[in-house]
Amino acid sequence: MATETPSLQQAAVVVNPGEKAQITLRNDLPVAIPGLNEVLVKLTCTGLCRSELRAVQAWGAYNSIIGHEGVGIVVKAGPDASQSLLGQRVGIKWLYSACNDCSVCKRGFLHNCAKQLNTSRHVPGTLQQYVIADARFLTIIPEGVADEVAAPLLCAGLTMVGALSKLENDLRAGDFVVISGSGGGLGHIGVQIAARIKKLRVIAVDSGDDKRKLSLESGAEVFFDFKTDDVVARVQELTGEGAHATIVVPGTEDALKMAPSLVRNMGFIVNVGLPRNDIQIPLSATICTARGLTFIGSSVGTEDQMTDLLKEAAAGNISPAIEVFDFSSVPTLIDRLRVDGVTGRAVVKLPQ
Ligand SMILES: [Zn+2]
Ligand SMILES: [Zn+2]
Repeated sequence: MATETPSLQQAAVVVNPGEKAQITLRNDLPVAIPGLNEVLVKLTCTGLCRSELRAVQAWGAYNSIIGHEGVGIVVKAGPDASQSLLGQRVGIKWLYSACNDCSVCKRGFLHNCAKQLNTSRHVPGTLQQYVIADARFLTIIPEGVADEVAAPLLCAGLTMVGALSKLENDLRAGDFVVISGSGGGLGHIGVQIAARIKKLRVIAVDSGDDKRKLSLESGAEVFFDFKTDDVVARVQELTGEGAHATIVVPGTEDALKMAPSLVRNMGFIVNVGLPRNDIQIPLSATICTARGLTFIGSSVGTEDQMTDLLKEAAAGNISPAIEVFDFSSVPTLIDRLRVDGVTGRAVVKLPQ
């Protein structure tokens, strides 16, 4: 295993986050040295999550190097990090580390730890050639899953597995679930998991022919276009009483507003979208109470869910729709994400 790494590397950097944000491609950033429990990973590619826009638009405090769906090879191990990781193909996720000691961690929900650190937020992200990762929280990528296929599963896929897991005690095969934003990076993988693994009847909601095609190919029973269809009426027509649950993927107020009208009484609304922090849940307290609705917030998922999802991908049951781009396209891609111009998931190749 070659341990020679350069001292400088290429990275995409967010400059001036906010209205006038720019993405600058640099080739003079230092390659970090792994510290205690850390490894250095040479990345081959990274998915580009729409939640990166929160960093670009300064909706919170983020690292200037974004990206949290990285795949690469461990090239250096710091003190106390297992040497056996050297040469392993690993995934870098949103969860960089957790305390492993709080009540939430002890229940197995490290991704909900209040003390968690996040890749691209507290530590530099994956739009760089070499990234530092905490060896204790890495995902090993199994054989049979190509790098660019694994990348979108690390956040988009895991988020949808996590969201669907919130329904596993209440929904059975054959029940209806509405997935809004069904043609995007998260949505279409969610449709595949819901339809192919959970055997739910998926009602896909998004807009445009490309997203219709991808949603239906992913296993949705029907597709309703929110720009041209009366989605609530069509869902009621198909289901009789409304769906058993809906997963709200787009971080928009409109999608959240529509959610209660899509589900039947005692239905579930699972939100995974991340709108601006000042956007409130537009849900009438009386309607929620009288109809017995449950609202659930869900962010990524557990490492067990990650492992299972990668196994499903290796078996060919889950196949993210990806478009692979060169590193030089990053600034343009971020612009496209801003106007929601990406069907499926954009994956960026890091210069080798
Ligand atoms: Zn993400
Ligand atoms: Zn914890």
